[in-house]
Amino acid sequence: MTESSSESIPRPGAAAEVPAPRVYDRGAHGISRAAIDDNALKVLYRLRDAGHRACLVGGGVRDLLLGREPKDFDIATDATPEQVRELFRNCRLIGRRFRLAHVVFGRDVIEVATFRAPHDEDGDEDDGRVALSEEGRILRDNRYGTIEQDAVRRDFTINALYYDIEDFSVLDYTGGVEDLEAGVLRLIGDDPETRLREDPVRMLRAVRFAAKLGLRIAAEVEAAIHELAPLMRTVAPARLFDEVIKLFHSGAAVTCLDELERFGLFEPMFPEAAASFSDPEQGRARRQFLVESLRNTDTRINDGLGVNPAFLYAAILWAPVQIRAAALIADEEPEIPAWQQAMASVLERQVRTVSIPRRFSQVVREIWELQARLERHRGARALRLLGHPRFRAGYDFLCLRARAGDADPALCQWWTDLQERDEDGQQAMVKSGSGGAPRKGRRRGGRRRGRGKQGGQGDGQGGDGGGASV
Ligand code: ATP
Ligand code: MG
Repeated sequence: MTESSSESIPRPGAAAEVPAPRVYDRGAHGISRAAIDDNALKVLYRLRDAGHRACLVGGGVRDLLLGREPKDFDIATDATPEQVRELFRNCRLIGRRFRLAHVVFGRDVIEVATFRAPHDEDGDEDDGRVALSEEGRILRDNRYGTIEQDAVRRDFTINALYYDIEDFSVLDYTGGVEDLEAGVLRLIGDDPETRLREDPVRMLRAVRFAAKLGLRIAAEVEAAIHELAPLMRTVAPARLFDEVIKLFHSGAAVTCLDELERFGLFEPMFPEAAASFSDPEQGRARRQFLVESLRNTDTRINDGLGVNPAFLYAAILWAPVQIRAAALIADEEPEIPAWQQAMASVLERQVRTVSIPRRFSQVVREIWELQARLERHRGARALRLLGHPRFRAGYDFLCLRARAGDADPALCQWWTDLQERDEDGQQAMVKSGSGGAPRKGRRRGGRRRGRGKQGGQGDGQGGDGGGASV
């Protein structure tokens, strides 16, 4: 991309130390309005027509420059949230820590953020609009400023590019276009450590953007993440729930897992899973099951199929539950209560670091409970199980376990065959035990018959195909 004018356009209120933007005019970049969501364009035009500055910013600009389809379109403006609300009937204001306007068009939500000023280095808390914690974490960030100030308080250079609806140019205050062309993910500013302390979630964002977009994390950012990874423990569990979903539903979940582990970011979020993977004997196989699950999730995302957060958590925490249940059973606890206790205690400990909303944790338990039932049931009970609301998820989970050597592949195949038969065929199968019905002593031994839906290719993860819903 060629810069159309390296001269800055002086803008009123720009802080002296903020460099002038590089301006790539409409002929110098590949963003066409046809690629921008109609609703986002409507919001941009209405803000502009009301006399405000309005730009597309963040992932929308970044992904369009990369020739990718953006996940969502974020807008930055000099209008305050209250002014935005006056312009749009379909608008609600959200967030305390970071106040924003959401303009709602049915299921489509356009996020409109007012340009922010950076907080003062000296920790000046002004009049309560900005607040830092003792560790330097941003608690509130609601002081409005200029576009120049807004650019430098964003996270990565590639996320601080503005597509200006006034003249369709791309404004670059931080060298993001060059970094994008070089394939480098770089934090804005010359002190990565401070930027990560301000918001440790930026470490997870670094892993996600690098994995998803195939970027290299700049060396100084890598070094800072290695050092500050333990700060993940200070992040609110509810915020981490959202970030973990974004990581593992990015379409590059297997790479994300590798990178989280390499940086020491996985352990603070999932201490029990991490401990189970470090077992010298069984650790590898346990981790392999999670890798199989994530690979399956990546395939589904990249094929445009739905995925379910509960399935993800069921997979991450499967080894800890098995370990806990085995310990209780070894302690003479009967099998069913042992599993119930194990599931409850693993979930209860997990939510201290990364929360799992109850509507998902309930489904996690159902997926786990189905494992024993899928292993045991024959006859008419097997047919009833086909109608269980979580059958597909439980069956997919079983087949992934089979792939990782944690369940009998013949058992997965038996359930695959059962689903493929018509009613008479199913009756015949459950009565005669034919079609590869599981028999005692075949566990872990059976040969896989690689066809059909085996290996979690079904739609159990998806539910209604609507992403997070189940
Ligand atoms: P995607 O939407 O594809 O996940 P994105 O870059 O648009 O990626 P969002 O979470 O939608 O990410 O945020 C929009 C923009 O807001 C980012 O591009 C970035 O400029 C800014 N931003 C988001 N989170 C942070 C953060 N934790 N610290 C600083 N800036 C942030
Ligand atoms: Mg976005």
